[in-house]
Amino acid sequence: MKFIDPKSGKEVDKHPDPDGKPSSSNEEVTCDKCFTTFAIRAQTKRVGMYKGEQIKAEYFECPSCMKRYPYLWLTNETRKLRAKNKEIQKLYGALIKAGKPSEALMEKAKFNQNMQRYREIEKELKNRFSL
Ligand SMILES: [Zn+2]
Repeated sequence: MKFIDPKSGKEVDKHPDPDGKPSSSNEEVTCDKCFTTFAIRAQTKRVGMYKGEQIKAEYFECPSCMKRYPYLWLTNETRKLRAKNKEIQKLYGALIKAGKPSEALMEKAKFNQNMQRYREIEKELKNRFSL
């Protein structure tokens, strides 16, 4: 999946947003399968039960080959991780501004840990559910 970075207009491999969520609905991506470039239209789907809770995924679909790209898995834990990371991002910015780079780095490490945990959950859910 190639993303178009809204700032530079260039294709990038990784989504510019660290958690992979499209920043705007008119953001464009290029399909891995058929190389069509299209504007993201985010959709939500209930994918099923997992560990006693109803799991939802946000995804977008290639209008040409219908390949679906899940970009966000919603569980109680991933919601919490995302909320925590939003707080950390704020705090990180404040610490940098305040001239406390070592404390900022510690926050960044926490952020990365949360992201890693999110990736683990994502991997598990991707293996279990297909959209
Ligand atoms: Zn396609």
